[in-house]
Amino acid sequence: MPLVKVMKNKISSSKVIKCRFDPHIFLPQISGSRIAINVNASAQRLLRRRHPWLFESSITRISHEGKSGDLAVIFDNRKKFLAIGIYDPASPIRVRILASGKSATINPAWFLNIISTAHEKRSSLLSTETDGYRVVSGENDGLPGLVIDRYADTLVIKIYTPAWIPHLYNVTAALLEVLPLQRVVLRMNKLTQAQTALLYGLKNADVIYGDKLDDIVIFKENGILFEADPIRGQKTGFFLDQRDNRARVEKIARGQNVLNLFSYTGGFSLYAARGGAASVTSLDISKPAIAGSVRNFALNYNNAVIANCQHRYIADDAFKAMENLATTDKRFGVVIIDPPSFAKKADEIAGALRAYSRLVKLGLDLLEQHGTLVMASCSSRVKADDFFSMIFETAKSAHYSLKELERSAHAIDHPIGFPEGAYLKCLFATAQHRR
Ligand code: SAH
Repeated sequence: MPLVKVMKNKISSSKVIKCRFDPHIFLPQISGSRIAINVNASAQRLLRRRHPWLFESSITRISHEGKSGDLAVIFDNRKKFLAIGIYDPASPIRVRILASGKSATINPAWFLNIISTAHEKRSSLLSTETDGYRVVSGENDGLPGLVIDRYADTLVIKIYTPAWIPHLYNVTAALLEVLPLQRVVLRMNKLTQAQTALLYGLKNADVIYGDKLDDIVIFKENGILFEADPIRGQKTGFFLDQRDNRARVEKIARGQNVLNLFSYTGGFSLYAARGGAASVTSLDISKPAIAGSVRNFALNYNNAVIANCQHRYIADDAFKAMENLATTDKRFGVVIIDPPSFAKKADEIAGALRAYSRLVKLGLDLLEQHGTLVMASCSSRVKADDFFSMIFETAKSAHYSLKELERSAHAIDHPIGFPEGAYLKCLFATAQHRR
């Protein structure tokens, strides 16, 4: 049986994938028309360095106003090929680059090659009792604006622009050839969901291939069972990027009381528990996330070490809860702080650093003497050096000396393919209060 069923499309005359369980879902296919674009000198330089984005403001000439998802070929002053990418008339990132330097034919074989290359890079994970990982990390794997995660038998494609929709057929077919799993769920970021005229009737969380999914999916990360909710969960259902930092926490947790702030569904909490923590407190503002952390503990109760760890949980604002905890005499051997991105725009960077600094101060005040602070940031706009300096400056002015254990960055399935792709940074340090 072919993995994807090809049918005549009602939307355009091209081919479509028909969803096996839902006859109403159709994937349109690319129109075949191409746009020719010329760009200014600075964009030519950036594209030669294989930058994955071409901004609208860099375009000096365009052959015609194309449609969302059309392929755009970019030329330099001498009419020499620079790059080919996906045209996005609704975004300031007007073209997302698929290939640069050498001309490429963007066809099913091209998608198969790029997705299998990406998956090959992750192959070492498969021997670590891990079947939840990022298969394709957008720009960093050569597919700008497209993320693919795997949770056991479920694949989740998340698109950050409707311009990907005409290419989903080829992406899905290639993906299923590399990983012939049970189903593919399509997720869209909010901006994409809002552009209904460009979505060909597709909706966020549609299952575009395979069996219907009503519920959560259970997968393994380093042998620990977790649930992911590809339909309703944040991101694509789980924060896969913290796997290595969680493993670091497991190593330092023995006998400790651990406070996990911004816990989501308890990723760090489970590793701390398996590492032999005496207690773990998960804290998140989202009640469904906290409920998920409770279920994740229950999933792993056949592990005696995890079952013996006392799991406490609090659904509250972290800033407020930390201030409240500081007024009690409760202190922790490990405090983990992994907040959401505080700087989505350039003018939010200073405010983000102030908020991080506040969390560092509150976290240090909740540590036992010589306890370990684990402080992470996922804001790509906040540079690693500024982030780490902020932690040390905050500690100094609050009269703590920090002993750095480790700085960490990206896991193997979250490679850094361009400057903006470096977003995750995390410091492990023990703290001593100078009384
Ligand atoms: N550490 C998690 C990922 C954290 S993502 C993991 O390893 O999986 C950020 C989390 O912060 C989200 O779960 C979100 O619900 C939570 N959050 C956002 N604002 C918050 C606040 N003010 N107080 C507490 N939690 C908050």
